[in-house]
Amino acid sequence: MKIKKGDTVEVISGNDRGERGTVHRIISEKNRIVVSGVHMVKKHQRRTGDVKTQVGIIEREAPIDISNVALVCSHCDRATRVGYEIMGDGGKVRVCKRCREAVD
Ligand SMILES: [Zn+2]
Repeated sequence: MKIKKGDTVEVISGNDRGERGTVHRIISEKNRIVVSGVHMVKKHQRRTGDVKTQVGIIEREAPIDISNVALVCSHCDRATRVGYEIMGDGGKVRVCKRCREAVD
């Protein structure tokens, strides 16, 4: 998985194209992610009997397909593809394919 929780990503296709946010959940088995502030949907929450449940229309982020987002490089501030480079100690680091800087 090239995208991790906490990454800043940009939506590159679909209705939310161009929007940016922070990844706050990854649903790896479905290849979907939840990005803060992106793809907000209105959800009608009915009374459930639990008094603590918020009732009415609530807005929340819906998961989007991971293939619709690209990582935003913290160095060049552009949506980029991610590559890997092997460090001298054998560890792998993610690199921005545009500016070749390490992203992690
Ligand atoms: Zn870059």
